Amino acid sequence: MSTKRTAWADVPCPIGRAIDVLGDKWALLILRNATVGMKRFDQFREDLAIADNVLSTRLSRLVDARLLVRVPYRDDGRTRHEYRLTAAGADLLPVMHALAAWGQRYTEAAEPAEPMTLIHRECGHETNPGDKCVHCGRTVDRQDLAWLRPWRSPEPVPLAEPVTS
Ligand SMILES: [Zn+2]
Repeated sequence: MSTKRTAWADVPCPIGRAIDVLGDKWALLILRNATVGMKRFDQFREDLAIADNVLSTRLSRLVDARLLVRVPYRDDGRTRHEYRLTAAGADLLPVMHALAAWGQRYTEAAEPAEPMTLIHRECGHETNPGDKCVHCGRTVDRQDLAWLRPWRSPEPVPLAEPVTS
């Protein structure tokens, strides 16, 4: 088993238990990328510039913790696996948004960039995390949202839907 149990795995404090699962920069960066639809080992490796063995260990841990699920797919006659968000992994969205807001406020990029924004896909305008679009007032579900990260792309990227099992 690649799951490493620590002294924090079953403490009464839920923040402590969550950090036991998530308190590693790679875990959160992998989950950030999975949130915008990244699925394949090679894509994570390239985007994160992470060593194969480190990525492999982190993906296994996230699968063991049931934040990602390993799903087979056929590629050129071979079976390969991709990594998709579970409902628990997808439920980190408010955490990602809180990290984005905190990072925007309290940290600085080496090269100044336009901030990350949340886009309501239906109306195409910026909104805030929440049940209703601040621009058009309509109810907003996960599938209605996209992340606009101008330093990466001028196009907003829709959020990945979790695998339903
Ligand atoms: Zn809207």
